[in-house]
Amino acid sequence: MAAFWTEADWDDHERVELVHDRQTGLTAIIAIHSTHRGPGGGGTRFWHYADPAGAMKDALRLSRGMSYKNAMAGLPMGGGKAVVLLDENRTKTPEMLAAFADAVEALGGAYVTAQDVGASEADMVAISQHTQHVSGLPHGDDLAGGDPGPSTSYGVYLGIKAAVEHALGKDSVLGVHIAMQGCGSVGSGAARLLARDGAKLTLADIDPARAQALAAELGASAVPAEAIMTTPCDVFSPNALGAILTTDSIAALDCAVVAGGANNQIACPEDGLALVERNILYAPDYVINAGGIINVSLEYLARMKGETSTREEVNRRIGQIPDRLREIWQESAATGLGADVVADRMAQRLIGR
Ligand code: NAD
Repeated sequence: MAAFWTEADWDDHERVELVHDRQTGLTAIIAIHSTHRGPGGGGTRFWHYADPAGAMKDALRLSRGMSYKNAMAGLPMGGGKAVVLLDENRTKTPEMLAAFADAVEALGGAYVTAQDVGASEADMVAISQHTQHVSGLPHGDDLAGGDPGPSTSYGVYLGIKAAVEHALGKDSVLGVHIAMQGCGSVGSGAARLLARDGAKLTLADIDPARAQALAAELGASAVPAEAIMTTPCDVFSPNALGAILTTDSIAALDCAVVAGGANNQIACPEDGLALVERNILYAPDYVINAGGIINVSLEYLARMKGETSTREEVNRRIGQIPDRLREIWQESAATGLGADVVADRMAQRLIGR
C-alpha cells in the first residue's frame, strides 16, 4: 500500500487516528486536517465500506473539506472528520458509540464530532455521555444546536437569493423558476422558504411520492428525477447527491445559476471551468451549505465556555453566507477562475496553507 502522506488526499493532514476496539467491534478513522483556526470540527459518518482504503479516502477528503468549510463560515474551528466502518448489516450498538466517544475524548478536544450520514441526534446525545467534544446537542428551539438541516436550508435559501440578484439582477425570487433536485431535509426546507417568497418551483426526488407531496403542499410541479437537471429554469438547486456536475451534465443544464446544499457537487476540478464557460453562476457547495455547521459549532463553542448561543446568533452568522458568495463571484469574474477554485484559494489562505 502506498504511504498515505504521498497521496493527494493526504494534503498535509495534521493527524489521523486509527481506532479499533475488539470488545465492541468498533473500527474507526479520525482524521484531523487542520487545527490552525481551532479544534478540528466535523461529523462522524457511520457507513459500510467495501474496503478500508475507501474509508480512509473518505475520511481524508471529508476532513480537508471541513477545514475549508469552517474557515469560509468564519468559525474559529479547524477541520476534521471521522468514519466508523460498519459491517454489511450496518450494526451500530450503544457500546460501539461509547467506545467511539472514548476515542474522541482521548484526543482532548483536537477533534469535535457532529451528526453526519448514518447518525442521529440521539446518537450524538449518547456520545455526549462519554465526551464533551460533540457539537450540536439539542437545547431547545431558541438556542443553537439540534438538527443541522433547517439551518442548512436557511443558508441555501439566502444563497439562492444572492445568486438570483447577482446573475439576474432581481432583488426577490418572486416568479423566479427554481428546479430542485432532492426533497429531503435540506431541499424541502429551502423549497418552503422559496415558495413563501413566491418562487416558481419544480421539484424532483428519486422517491417520486416525496416530490409530489411537497409539490402539492407548495403549489409546485414535480418531474421525474432524471428530468430535473435538464429542466429549463433560472436556478438549478442540487440538494441530493454529490458529483452531479460533470462535463456532460453541465453541457445539458438550461439555467443561469447552480446553487444548492448537496456536498461535493463538482465531479472533477475542470468542471468548475465548464460552468464559467457556459456563463452559469455557481455557488460553491461548502460555502452555501455551511448553515448546519454554523448551528452545531456555535452550540459547542458556547457550551465549552459554560454558555449557550441563541438561534438569533446562528441566523445572524448564516446571514453572512451571501457576502462570502459575492466576494467569490467578484474574484471569479476578475480572474476568470471557477468559483470553486476561488473558494478553495480563499479557504487555503484562511487556514494558512
Ligand atoms: P436527505 O437524505 O434528508 O435528503 C436527500 C434527498 O435526496 C432524499 O429525499 C433522497 O430521496 C433524494 N435523492 C437521492 N438521490 C437523488 C437523485 N438522484 N435525484 C433526486 N433526488 C435524490 O439529506 P439532506 O440532509 O437533505 O442532505 C442533502 C444533501 O445536502 C446531501 O448531499 C448532504 O451531504 C448535504 N448537506 C446536508 C446538510 C444537513 O444539514 N443536513 C448540511 C450540509 C450538506
